[in-house]
Amino acid sequence: MSNNELLAEARSLQDWLSGLRRTLHMMPELSLREYKTSAHLADELGRLGLKPSKLWGEGLVADIDAPKGAGRIALRADMDALPIQELNEIPFRSRHDGVAHMCGHDTHMAILLGTAKMLAGKRERLRHSVRLIFQPAEETPPGGARGLIQNGALEGVDEVYALHNQPSLEVGKVSTCAGPLTAAADTISMRLTGRGGHASRPHESLDPIPAACALVGQLQTLVARRVSPAQQAVVSITRIQSGTTHNIIPDHADLLGTVRTFDAPVRDLLEREIGAMVAGVAAAHGLEHEYRFERGYDSIVNHESGVRRVAEAAGSVVGAENVNTKQEPATWGEDFSYFLQQRPGAFFLLGSGNRREGICEPLHSARFNVDERCLPLGVAILATLALS
Ligand SMILES: [Zn+2]
Ligand SMILES: [Zn+2]
Repeated sequence: MSNNELLAEARSLQDWLSGLRRTLHMMPELSLREYKTSAHLADELGRLGLKPSKLWGEGLVADIDAPKGAGRIALRADMDALPIQELNEIPFRSRHDGVAHMCGHDTHMAILLGTAKMLAGKRERLRHSVRLIFQPAEETPPGGARGLIQNGALEGVDEVYALHNQPSLEVGKVSTCAGPLTAAADTISMRLTGRGGHASRPHESLDPIPAACALVGQLQTLVARRVSPAQQAVVSITRIQSGTTHNIIPDHADLLGTVRTFDAPVRDLLEREIGAMVAGVAAAHGLEHEYRFERGYDSIVNHESGVRRVAEAAGSVVGAENVNTKQEPATWGEDFSYFLQQRPGAFFLLGSGNRREGICEPLHSARFNVDERCLPLGVAILATLALS
């Protein structure tokens, strides 16, 4: 079967895929509460003759065994929605107040089910056995990926792949890169504690406000003076809270911020150096300090072999000229990173935007939507990975 035939078959499923995506779109569920979603997926998989099993939370895995294939590839879709009120005026708008699939995980589930439908009818031609992984709780750290992996989702698996729709990329385009594709997104919080007093007699107090200001300035030197110019990082202080009124020196100042990195040693270095700087500035001002560095998801680091496979598969579906393998790393986080720490493979962005039709709202926007023509393209690319 040539790739044109595969794509034609995927396109013949367009109405079925759109219907599935719309059904899921109307019944969004938050992280770790994907009960109806999971039941719906289990029904659909059963209809294809597959036997899904629950591994962790509402997550499902189902195998399609190749009679003569070598090895097994895993394909993963995430299941959860976001706490957002959808503002789209569409017939299949979310029926669940305050919850909506504004990251397009409904699209990912429909693509993976469509891939299952294509592959279940082609077992004898599969080059690899396949494991379908439907993962709960991608949006809420600590996330569902690690729970699934700890319960055996990758046992017997040799390679692992996943996609994310991308509305800033036109439908028909695919983008990825070897190495880091998303950031590690960590939260820093600090408290500087002194001794409050009358604002007219500052010498009798220990004022945390000048220290907080000094600290914010000092922190900006870390990326410039501690991180190699060949590496990227962001340190942003996003909230400072202290004091109550004009004539009182407050007891303490609280600072909150974010750190984004793409490389584990840089992340470790910044965790350490920020801590040392907080301690140093506090000591210089005679203050006590507290410091917390809370880790979000690790950065997705794509394997070169996986990116080559994705580029070939995607190129055969959308044309090599529509596949970018030099995608700039994104500063959002994704817990597919944990799958790629265990097995080779890759994560890629599937164009789902259509500027002319006004489908270009970003992920997590209340007006986010996808061009559903991305559904058969995603199916054909994932199916190609299993068949080649
Ligand atoms: Zn999201
Ligand atoms: Zn997402």
